[in-house]
Amino acid sequence: MSGIAGAYQSLKDVFGFDGFRGRQEDVVTRILAGASTLAVMPTGAGKSLTYQLPAVMLPGTCVVISPLIALMHDQLRSARANGIRAATLTSADADWRETQDAFRAGELDLLYVAPERASQPAFREFLSSAPLCLFAIDEAHCVSEWGHDFRPDYRMLRGLMDAFPQVPRLALTATADRQTRADVMAQLGIAEDGLVLAGFDRPNIRYAIRHRDNPVRQLTNLMESEPGPGIVYAQTRRKVEDLADKLAAATGRAVRPYHAGLDAEVRAANQSAFVASEDMVIVATVAFGMGIDKPDVRFVAHVGVPKSIEGYYQETGRAGRDGDPSQAVMFWGAGDFATARQRLAEVDEARRAAERTRLDALAGLVETAECRRAVLLRHFGEHPPASCGNCDNCLEQPDVTDATELARKLLSA
Ligand code: ADP
Ligand code: MG
Repeated sequence: MSGIAGAYQSLKDVFGFDGFRGRQEDVVTRILAGASTLAVMPTGAGKSLTYQLPAVMLPGTCVVISPLIALMHDQLRSARANGIRAATLTSADADWRETQDAFRAGELDLLYVAPERASQPAFREFLSSAPLCLFAIDEAHCVSEWGHDFRPDYRMLRGLMDAFPQVPRLALTATADRQTRADVMAQLGIAEDGLVLAGFDRPNIRYAIRHRDNPVRQLTNLMESEPGPGIVYAQTRRKVEDLADKLAAATGRAVRPYHAGLDAEVRAANQSAFVASEDMVIVATVAFGMGIDKPDVRFVAHVGVPKSIEGYYQETGRAGRDGDPSQAVMFWGAGDFATARQRLAEVDEARRAAERTRLDALAGLVETAECRRAVLLRHFGEHPPASCGNCDNCLEQPDVTDATELARKLLSA
């Protein structure tokens, strides 16, 4: 069986799913037909499946480029759990020999590598030693300086892929505005009609953006109304530790910290405890969350502002992947933007303008009196209705008499 009928069969047999989600089917259909594609789909939409399924169906190995070793190993584990023949070639692997032999023998569906690998002539030669079916470039916004997470190594991918012109390319990202999308496609050699853009709306997430007066009390209230698992993002390691202690004391709930300054073992233990838990809260820097597959996160809170709307969307997108009602609450202060703008002075001049634009867009979302969801979705090029009924601005709109009264007072003051 081939084509889309075969895809449905493999979807069931390999992954145990009854149907595709969102625009997965469009992406898979394109790849099976050999058409290079940029898939922009929200976090949790199921991007991995769009390369894993063709990798299982097509002869030859799919080479997956992924930016983080930890993320690769998570993917590896879940692919293998589905019986997919997968391996990684990273500095953290001891079994290079076996992996290389398996690749040459045509026994791998998926080979995960880091972008650094792409620039090595020896690697190109190695890839020539067996048939390939696909290049999958995960977190593809990293190729663009317009993206919020530019990684120079991604620039070397083009040279590598051009050496295999018959192999289709599938670039994947959750977060790319119009400019970043165009840039990613140009950089990776994907034709303009190769864009599959899935909806960004996450209707089960209730957005709220509030002034921060007493974050411990505000978070305590949130945690008391929401007993399920949650993530609290704080700006610095010190604030992470401090908040974790205070929230544990104030709520009596299980609260753990996560940041790059913790021992690798403590970090790993806190992460897996969180993933397994039905009520834990993790207080973390933005280092936490990439590649974590926990469907039942009930709230994501920000204390302080994220770096951009893309970052905000990605971080809040970790809430409610199971589709159940969830909350995204930001507690911000006017000083947050001042601090962020000061930090821009230290940024490369080439990147500064783009960063400033991103920060301004975020300020627009924070300060708007309009529907948060509408502003968010318009940022990603969608045309949402003016009001969603599931964000603070829609739910708590002061009624017209209040507004008139307030205006009268302000004018007469
Ligand atoms: P992304 O990379 O887009 O953030 P993942 O590939 O990690 O998302 O997938 C998120 C979750 O969705 C995973 O738990 C995956 O098993 C699940 N998933 C993917 N496709 C489907 C589908 N067609 N039906 C049901 N669940 C799916
Ligand atoms: Mg992913």
